Amino acid sequence: MQTSFTDEQLTDPRIAEANGILRKCVHCGFCTATCPTFLLLGDELDSPRGRIYLIKEMLEKGEPARPEVVKHVDRCLSCLSCMTTCPSGVNYMHLVDEARTYIEETHTRPFLDRLLRTVLSAVLPYPNRFRRSLILAKLGKPFAGVFRHIPGLKPVAAMLELGPSSLPPASAGPQPGTHPADGETRGRVAMLTGCAQSVLNPGINAATVRLLNRLGIEVIIPPRMGCCGALSHHMGKEQPAHGFARANIDAWIGELDGAGLDAIIINASGCGTTVKDYGYMLRLDPAYAEKAARTSAITKDITEYLGTLDLPPAGSVERLKVAYHSACSMQHGQQIKRQPVDLLSAAGFEVVSVPEGHICCGSAGTYNILQPDIANRLRARKVANIESTSPQVIATGNIGCMTQIAMGTEIPIIHTVELLDWATGGPKPAGLGGGAGWCRLHAICSHK
Ligand code: SF4
Ligand code: SF4
Repeated sequence: MQTSFTDEQLTDPRIAEANGILRKCVHCGFCTATCPTFLLLGDELDSPRGRIYLIKEMLEKGEPARPEVVKHVDRCLSCLSCMTTCPSGVNYMHLVDEARTYIEETHTRPFLDRLLRTVLSAVLPYPNRFRRSLILAKLGKPFAGVFRHIPGLKPVAAMLELGPSSLPPASAGPQPGTHPADGETRGRVAMLTGCAQSVLNPGINAATVRLLNRLGIEVIIPPRMGCCGALSHHMGKEQPAHGFARANIDAWIGELDGAGLDAIIINASGCGTTVKDYGYMLRLDPAYAEKAARTSAITKDITEYLGTLDLPPAGSVERLKVAYHSACSMQHGQQIKRQPVDLLSAAGFEVVSVPEGHICCGSAGTYNILQPDIANRLRARKVANIESTSPQVIATGNIGCMTQIAMGTEIPIIHTVELLDWATGGPKPAGLGGGAGWCRLHAICSHK
C-alpha cells in the first residue's frame, strides 16, 4: 500500500513503524473473510482492510481522529484473526494499537463514553477495587434490564449482567511467595496471577501452582506484580499500560537475574499476548527496552510450558467429551493451537473441535461492555457452535472467554489447566461438582 507521510512525520518512530506496517498491505482482502465484525455487519469499513485504510488516512493527515474513524476502530475486537489469515505478514495488532493510542490522544469522546472508560481503567486492573465494584454491582443488577433499553447506558447494563452474584474469598488463590516443587526440583518459573482472574476464579491459579509443583517445578509469585496492562492498552491508554508493564518487569527481573527463571507462566491468554509484546511496547524506553525484551522472550502460556514437560499418564478421571474453545489471544495472538488439545487428549479427555473455531466469542477484554450488541451476537453464535458438538464440558485458557461464554450456556466451562490438574492427580474442578478452588459459574448457574 502506498503511503504519503512527510519526511518530518517519519522522524516520529511511532509513525515510521506504522508506515512500515501499512506498506506491507497489498489490499488483497483475504483478511475480510475471517473478520468477525465484517461477518456480522458486512461493511468494508468494519473489516481489517477497511480499518487499515481509515488508520492510514488518520495518521497521514495528523489531525484529530474523526468520529467515523473512531466508530470503526472501536468496533474492532483486536481478535487478530486477520493476522492469522494475512499472507503478507501485516502486523495489524501493532497498527491498531497505535491507532487506539492516537485516538485517545486526539479525540474527545462523548461524556458518558469517556466516563465509562475512565471508570473501567481505574477499577478493572486493580483486584481490590474490582472486588469492591462487583459487590456494589450486585445492588445494581436488578436494574440491568432497564439500562439495556437506554442507548447510552447499554454498556452499564452489560457490566452489571457480567458481574457474578457471589465471589470467592480474597484469600482463595495462591499467595505471593515461593511454592516449592513436590520432590526433586526440575525447574523454576514465575507466574503472573493477574487482576480480574484472581478475583473471579482464583481456582485457576491454584490449579496451575498445584500442577506445576506436582511436576517438580518451583513456582515464584513475586509480591509486587499487577495487571499485565492489556485492559488499559486496548483502550489506547498507553501511559497506565506501560506503567503496569514496567512494574511487572521489575517484579520478574530480580528473579531472572537472581536464582534464574526457566519461564514466566501466564494462564490467561489475553495477558500472555500482551506480556509477550512488552519488548515491543517498551522499545522506545531506554531504561526498560532491554529488560522488557528479555522478559517477553521467556514468557509462555501454561500449556506451551507443559508441552515441554513429561506429564504423568492419564489417571482414572471420567473420559469427558470436551469442546475446546481456543481464545483468539491463544490461537491468533500467540499462534498456540495444538498444545492445549494435545495435552487434554493425552490426559484422557475426548476433545472435539468447535465449528467456526477461529471466530471470536465477543469477550475481547472490555469489548463485551463497550460494544454489547456485537458482543452478544458473537456469543450467541459461539454458543450455538459449541452446543452443536454436544460436549459435557467446555475447556478454554482465558478467563474473559469463560465469563462471556458462561453467560450463554448451561454447559460447564472449565480452564484447561484445571482439567489437566484433575487428570493428573489434583482435585475435581469445582465447576464439575468437585471441591477444588472456587467456580464463578456457581454464582450464575446451576452447575453445583
Ligand atoms: S482484529 Fe479481529 S475484529 Fe479487528 S479487524 Fe482483525 S479480524 Fe476484524
Ligand atoms: S490480508 Fe493482509 S495484505 Fe491482504 S488486505 Fe488484509 S491486511 Fe492487507
